[in-house]
Amino acid sequence: MTPILFRNAFVATADRVFAGDVLASADGRIAAVGERLDAGDAAIVDATGKYLLPGGVDPHTHFDLDAGIARASDDFYSGSVAAACGGTTTIVDHVAFGPPGCGLFHQIEAYHRLARRAVVDYGFHGVLQHVDDAVLADMERLRGAEGVTSLKLYLTYDCKLDDGAAFRALRRARELGLTLCAHCENDGVISVLRREMAASGRTAPRYHPLSRPPLAEAEAVRRFLDLAAMAGDARAYVVHLSTRSGLDAVRAARAGGQTNVFAETCPQYLFLDDSLYDDPREGLKYIMSPPLRRAADQAALWEGLRRGDIDAVGTDHCPFFFATQKQAGADDFTRCPGGAPGVELRMPLLFSEGFMKGRLSLPQVVRLCCARPAEIFGLAPRKGDIRPGADADLVLFDPGVEWTVDHSLLHEHVDYTPYQGMTLTGRPVATYSRGELVAENGEFRGGEGRGRYLRRTVQQ
Ligand code: MN
Ligand code: MN
Repeated sequence: MTPILFRNAFVATADRVFAGDVLASADGRIAAVGERLDAGDAAIVDATGKYLLPGGVDPHTHFDLDAGIARASDDFYSGSVAAACGGTTTIVDHVAFGPPGCGLFHQIEAYHRLARRAVVDYGFHGVLQHVDDAVLADMERLRGAEGVTSLKLYLTYDCKLDDGAAFRALRRARELGLTLCAHCENDGVISVLRREMAASGRTAPRYHPLSRPPLAEAEAVRRFLDLAAMAGDARAYVVHLSTRSGLDAVRAARAGGQTNVFAETCPQYLFLDDSLYDDPREGLKYIMSPPLRRAADQAALWEGLRRGDIDAVGTDHCPFFFATQKQAGADDFTRCPGGAPGVELRMPLLFSEGFMKGRLSLPQVVRLCCARPAEIFGLAPRKGDIRPGADADLVLFDPGVEWTVDHSLLHEHVDYTPYQGMTLTGRPVATYSRGELVAENGEFRGGEGRGRYLRRTVQQ
């Protein structure tokens, strides 16, 4: 690989922004960061006027997810191409549920096969679909054999864990230094409301958010974090936080002395609100769980980003075709596969609407989209930072480009984007993965299958 010198960029890390140079060496790592570095035999990229960020780390995708009623339309190839074109160079995918009763290795092994065509580096979160002695033993074996240091549990859906099972898993995670992620919604309340809505013909998209009230999230966040406290301050990560009340529960856990509480939100909860469900046709595009919320929740989440109460922005990328797959819910929202695309626009949205619009500093954007996800999930210092020794995963943003989001410009394998028509300022013009140019001006330049599996390490 040719060494590359990025000359005269505004280099942005989680700590600072400074004008300088970054040298990527032939082994795909960052060799030096500084001012007026000696180019030697490196190819020079003139980055004057552009921002150089660490490649994005998306800690929450669902490539090739088999949801039973439908299969997510992006596989590991198309999904990772979209990630690369949008400035994301690492993804950590949440594996789907396997057959009932299967052990922890079943889905990880299946996903190694699915991910062979990935074009950026990737890891997997394991999934806890039941808890017994064998699963608790597998948590340690999976850490050792696969470098899987995080697993997810669900407090709703078919494979939900009850409090006892969640507590056992959290206690084991505490022993092993693992991080447990949780989808937090109160299953009982949601089940009753969905059943009542279906029985009374309230099946239009606008009933979807009413079937999953904000307090159903907040109650489950409180319970999950309380269980983590009782497990001895286990590392507990709340995925896709969507409400003010849920965020208050995260703050309360920290105020109560927990030191291993982490929270993630997603672009859809920052940029879209529940008025989009009013259109009985288009509303299907936004059927996802948790649902889009009120503008007041959005404002609270932005405040949470600013204050550092929210650690990470992931996407929950899980696309289904509107013209076909989403139409399963045309007469009944409960039959619509839940999920929406986002992996390609996360970095551009946060760069534009966070940094360029003055809501967040650029180091805050880097922290949320790159550095903290890498740290929390055991990928630092290799990913999420620009420093000697780190992988040369880099994205160059041109802040001078103003553009209007159109689905036709994107690489996500799906027929719409929830962010259609938004005008963004700044665009990723080049993405490098381990020193290799993988995307340029919205075109993929890398090779199929070049992505590498990331063994991760425990964070204590
Ligand atoms: Mn979820
Ligand atoms: Mn998810």
